[in-house]
Amino acid sequence: MVPTPGQALERLEAGNARYAEGHPTSPHFQTASQRQRAVEGQEPFATILACADSRVPPELVFDQSCGELFVVRTAGHAVTPVVTGSVEYALTELGVPLVLVLGHSGCGAVKATLDEMSSPSLRLTPGLAAVVECVRPGLEPLSSRGDLTGDALVATAVRANVAAALRRLRDASSTVREYEQAGRVRLVGAEYGIGTGRVTLLDPRE
Ligand SMILES: [Zn+2]
Repeated sequence: MVPTPGQALERLEAGNARYAEGHPTSPHFQTASQRQRAVEGQEPFATILACADSRVPPELVFDQSCGELFVVRTAGHAVTPVVTGSVEYALTELGVPLVLVLGHSGCGAVKATLDEMSSPSLRLTPGLAAVVECVRPGLEPLSSRGDLTGDALVATAVRANVAAALRRLRDASSTVREYEQAGRVRLVGAEYGIGTGRVTLLDPRE
């Protein structure tokens, strides 16, 4: 049975609590019969749009098994048209009731974008430049915040990048907007603390 958005979020929060406390319970292997059932199809209960950073694997962080999360990952969870399409697939074909955008502390893509904003260089490869161009609009409002520097700037930018990804998904996809307005899906932003293992939900007004 498909959970409600609230139930899906509770499952993620409970899984992260198990993970952060060092007591995960979800198996990361499948028996032959489980594999056979998986052939029939998939029923993930949440979509996670996360950074590709190797320290932020959603199945581990939320203590979930194979088949439970529909995961989309790019550097800095940059929202490209293909990412938007992947989220639309999760909504329309899989009926996923929750989309969680997961930023994380010390994000390299966010730092690279901040660096490029403060001292533009031509050293980025075309692909990396595309990541920076995708992340940059969400961070530009911070360039007028002279009070923010160093780690505080990165921390604020990580949260701004999550908020921007949520906005971009809504702006780019009438399907996302319609499903959200109809209450068929909930979009939430969150931040993973690499040092703590904990996921913190972000205030949607930020
Ligand atoms: Zn990252």
